[in-house]
Amino acid sequence: MNKTIIVSNRLPLQVSIQKNSLEISPSVGGLATGMKSVHADGNGIWVGWSGIPENELSPSLAKEVEKKIKKEKCVSVSLTNEDIEDYYEGFSNNALWPLFHYFMEYTNFEQHEWEAYKRVNEKFAEVVIDNLEDGDTVWVHDYQLLLLPQLIKGKKPNTTVGFFLHIPFPSYEIFRTFPWREEILTGMLGADLLGFHTYDYERHFLSSVKRILRLDVNFNKINYHDRIIKVDSFPMGIDYNKFHNAALEHRSGSLEKSELRKRLEEHVTEDKKLILSIDRMDYTKGIPNRIKAFEYFLDNYPKYKEKVRLVMLAVPSRSNVPQYQKLKRETDELVGRINGKFATVSWTPIWYFYRSMPFADLIDLYISSDVALITPIRDGMNLVAKEYIATRTEGNGVLVLSEMAGASKEMNEALLINPNSFQNFAENLERALTMPLNEQENRIKFLQKRLKRYDVEKWAEEFFKSLQETEQDRNTIVTKKLTGDYEKSFVEKFKSKKKKMLLLDYDGTLVGFKDNPQDAKPDDELFELLDSLHEKATLVLISGRDKDTFQRWFGHKSYNLVTDHGVWLYQNEEWTALERLKTDWMQSIRPILETFVDSTPGTFIETKNYSLAWHYRTADPELAKIRTMELNTVLTSMVANNGLSILEGNKVIEIKSSNVNKGRVVNRLLIENDYDFVTIIGDDWTDEYMFEEAPDWAYTIKVGLTKTKAKYQIKDPKQVRQLLQKLI
Ligand code: UDP
Repeated sequence: MNKTIIVSNRLPLQVSIQKNSLEISPSVGGLATGMKSVHADGNGIWVGWSGIPENELSPSLAKEVEKKIKKEKCVSVSLTNEDIEDYYEGFSNNALWPLFHYFMEYTNFEQHEWEAYKRVNEKFAEVVIDNLEDGDTVWVHDYQLLLLPQLIKGKKPNTTVGFFLHIPFPSYEIFRTFPWREEILTGMLGADLLGFHTYDYERHFLSSVKRILRLDVNFNKINYHDRIIKVDSFPMGIDYNKFHNAALEHRSGSLEKSELRKRLEEHVTEDKKLILSIDRMDYTKGIPNRIKAFEYFLDNYPKYKEKVRLVMLAVPSRSNVPQYQKLKRETDELVGRINGKFATVSWTPIWYFYRSMPFADLIDLYISSDVALITPIRDGMNLVAKEYIATRTEGNGVLVLSEMAGASKEMNEALLINPNSFQNFAENLERALTMPLNEQENRIKFLQKRLKRYDVEKWAEEFFKSLQETEQDRNTIVTKKLTGDYEKSFVEKFKSKKKKMLLLDYDGTLVGFKDNPQDAKPDDELFELLDSLHEKATLVLISGRDKDTFQRWFGHKSYNLVTDHGVWLYQNEEWTALERLKTDWMQSIRPILETFVDSTPGTFIETKNYSLAWHYRTADPELAKIRTMELNTVLTSMVANNGLSILEGNKVIEIKSSNVNKGRVVNRLLIENDYDFVTIIGDDWTDEYMFEEAPDWAYTIKVGLTKTKAKYQIKDPKQVRQLLQKLI
């Protein structure tokens, strides 16, 4: 039975070693809950670090740990102290974490930490591959393992690999500063499906792929070598029922009230309110900013003095890192200063806890607070915001949420704020404190409905379903690929037939693309191949290239040539015009193209005998996308009246006479002779006209793995040449 291997930096369990005893307890985090159906209930295993460095375990203890965690269906990756320092605390948390959260000033690029990151990703790959069987699926989690998908795919190309990033993916302008940006992207592209929390992160990732790796992206699919990679957003949910039911239980009176709850309730009366914030002590969470904004609020809305209290829980995190120590000092000072400034004998504005709290206390905090104030500067998702909503079993309460949290994208009914604007912050806090009950209930109702439906299990299920679909997509491509038995039968048929014609497109089919089209000249190897083919079949090179270029390149050969998309035919060493075309339209179209060249660096115009082509291969891909849309709009109104048409080729837009296309030529050539074997090979959509006109029994072969009317597909010009070689 096929299984799923989940991989994350940490295993979902806590290992504690007392003097002579070894304790293993499963952790109850959101991810573990979401993965339950994939892991515990299914046949899956989880690969990750146990939390104990290799150096701290004797060989016999290590064995025992391994045995015990195996019982939990886990396999550990052994890491040394040095690995943890350089790969985890170093590269992951001092380079990737700050940069991906737009804190460039905290980002450290250290070569030796990068080396450690690569080394540890390879260690993970080794453990995964040791446990992998044919047909298994691997789901990799988060920023510590960005290189892992490719390390697995490279060694096990048939494995279905998914990757989910739990933090933001930054905009291209930020990501491009990364010294190892290509390696990071190609590492991620080993996955068949890449998931992000929001559409914005997805869009930023695609933009970096387009601009840095210069790959073709169609909507949310990336063409990469002979693979199609899907990118999508899956906003992670929470274990909604767990929080909701705990809140019901706490409110029911069946449990004895905790000290914390009693103290919290003392403060809440008709005209006094509690405001809650909970975060890890991390610079991305905007804690100092929030305290300053709260000061601004009390200064500008003084009637709330003695009426509101901010209960602020900050959970210690990475506290050995200098930036985090600085943040802690700053927070301590700010809380002290503001409490000192506003406190009265019966009131302090901020209750500040620097610790983590048990689950029951968290529930008490959530259910006792009138307003939750969740205002990160940048946050991949933010689960606290969702947990607060899940616990509002009585339907009241207001969530004030930063627009910079991924959660804001699906929580429109919260009061969304820009945490950097104190005015915006204060206005919305006042709005939250004065919101009528029925409005609170309406908003909570909508939010709860969505969170309940799209909980963490649903999130995992949706991702997993989408990942399985990539496997099906891969299989349909495989069925169209001209390899194996299909290829064998193709070669045999060619050899057994008498009257054969090969119609071959040139650019992108027989030769790869170059920045400048004039550089894509035929090479000696190609001439040799074509000469041999021509002895065995009628060989036709059919291209959008102009007559002069082909005359120069192939005039000394006796192949048949079709140029200018079908305007000219070269047969028996003579050129015939298949179409009588005017060119006077060029005078009016050229100035338009020139303005686009001026406004789009890296583009140029190619003037052919019967067409004008605007090439944008070396332009910025995103700018080019906008410009091609603009150019299409401008041209559409002009071409219709002038008998012209627009052809969108591979990184080129060409304007030519409407009644010319390669399909018409195919028809003409087919009736000239009584062929019993025809093969047409082409790569872009100008070649689709040929595929359409081909008889049913012909072989139509598309180069590249995008959508096509051709019956077969083949990866690239190199493989086309290898295939043709087999015919001779
Ligand atoms: N949390 C916790 N103990 C605490 C405070 C918070 O376990 O004392 C949990 C909280 O319930 C939430 C998680 O920590 O599930 C924080 O997740 P979030 O996405 O808000 O932030 P992250 O820490 O992942 O950046």
